[in-house]
Amino acid sequence: MLRPPRHAPHHPQRMQNSPSSDCDSESSRDNRMMSSALHITRPEASDWLQVEEAVQAARDAFPAWASRSPADRAQVMNRLADLIEARLEEFARAESKDQGKTVTFARTVDIPRSVHNLRFFASSALHHTTDCSQMEPAGCLNYTIRCPVGVAALISPWNLPLYLLTWKIAPAIAAGNTVVAKPSELTSVTAWMMCRLMNEAGLPPGVVNVVFGSGMRAGDALVSHPDVPLVSFTGSTATARVIAERSAPYCKRLSLELGGKNPAIVFADADLERCVATTVRSSFSNQGEICLCTSRVFVERSVYPEFLRRFVAAARQWKTGVPSDPANSNGALVSREHLEKVRSFVKLAWEEGAQVHCGEGVDKLEVPEQNAGGYYMLPTVVTGATDSSRLMQEEIFGPVVCVAPFDLEEEVILRANGVRYGLAATVWSRDVGRVHRVAKQLQAGLVWTNCWLVRDLNLPFGGMKNSGVGREGGKDSHHFFTEVKTVTIKH
Ligand code: NAD
Repeated sequence: MLRPPRHAPHHPQRMQNSPSSDCDSESSRDNRMMSSALHITRPEASDWLQVEEAVQAARDAFPAWASRSPADRAQVMNRLADLIEARLEEFARAESKDQGKTVTFARTVDIPRSVHNLRFFASSALHHTTDCSQMEPAGCLNYTIRCPVGVAALISPWNLPLYLLTWKIAPAIAAGNTVVAKPSELTSVTAWMMCRLMNEAGLPPGVVNVVFGSGMRAGDALVSHPDVPLVSFTGSTATARVIAERSAPYCKRLSLELGGKNPAIVFADADLERCVATTVRSSFSNQGEICLCTSRVFVERSVYPEFLRRFVAAARQWKTGVPSDPANSNGALVSREHLEKVRSFVKLAWEEGAQVHCGEGVDKLEVPEQNAGGYYMLPTVVTGATDSSRLMQEEIFGPVVCVAPFDLEEEVILRANGVRYGLAATVWSRDVGRVHRVAKQLQAGLVWTNCWLVRDLNLPFGGMKNSGVGREGGKDSHHFFTEVKTVTIKH
């Protein structure tokens, strides 16, 4: 049972505020997770002064942390990973209660992957190599070295709270930076819980600082701070624009991981059974609140009726309900505001004359009476939306997917690319030549073929167009979080 103190405990990691159980004015949040035994919490917001203190603490800690060996830093990170892993169930329940996702999803995805982030970057930092070249006629040897940059601002969203926060903290501190991190104001509890373990893990004071609160307040103070030379941000494209503007006067280094409007392309030769099962998962996992979720499914016309029949049937099997019930695949959406936003797209579908085959407005949600006011929404499948409709253009970020037929390979590539986003795409075909051809032409930072969400953290992760700037993952994160220097030695 998590019962955090009302006041910030003395903590060397400068956890600016502790969650306060009575500051959650949004009482209806309870509806998302009534069956959980955990007490709802929300950390108090940090103000400008606390952000200032956090940056100062990170600056003070930087020289000592940067001068430690990668192996030494890795040891501390691995200890932190072990401590979180030992409390996996506690973390999973808190993540579910705070975010609305099922405990099963948090237990099998969010928390294990957070642990893996820490272990992966602890280890990967031990294996980077640098470049070297010889210039014989000039008698010179050139080589590069990489140094940590300083204080990194790390800002993360609410959909995969601890997972996306550790995705940033781990590579940043493994490379020798110190950080000020800000989780989403909607889902800060597991970040707070992790802070409580940092001391025990042996992380020196000031290396990881966490500030809480809204983007407009704590977030803005952080990204516009002159002593923060780099910002790694995951969130919406709209917020990224503001962050880019606020960072521009200081020429900050930016990594922006943003929204998506991800297509799945199903060719007639696809293994339909596998394709349907995976596409339901890719469309609706975590209530559709994953930036990589499929949002538009294009199906070759000859298999379109069969695909649609199977897909709608499988979507109806994707159960939604109380997050603690292991029978449910989806829990509740993150907030009432977000639920209303996602629902408005289904309303738009009706207004535009599209067909809604299952889910919102078609099927009845079955939850216990005491959970009836929760932010639940059934997996919803829409057809008949035009490519120019907001349904096919805007990120919905909920359990709504549009399905449409196509005739030609060239046509579907154009249509898949016809949005401002370019994060991820999925291609289903047994023809390896076609898979290569299509993958090359798709405007997406990640293309999965005959699978979805298979992640090798060594490889670049990020989006094209409005889906982001830069890449993160193994070597790319190391490059982002270090400054490269070329050294020339004349002999
Ligand atoms: P958001 O942009 O509203 O908020 C993200 C974070 O930015 C939060 O911590 C918020 O407090 C902070 N923030 C808001 N305004 C700020 C400002 N002016 N200055 C500094 N910080 C500010 O996004 P969200 O609603 O929390 O998350 C959903 C979005 O995130 C979706 O668009 C989704 O696609 C995207 N996302 C992208 C990825 C990816 O890897 N590409 C992963 C997950 C989510």
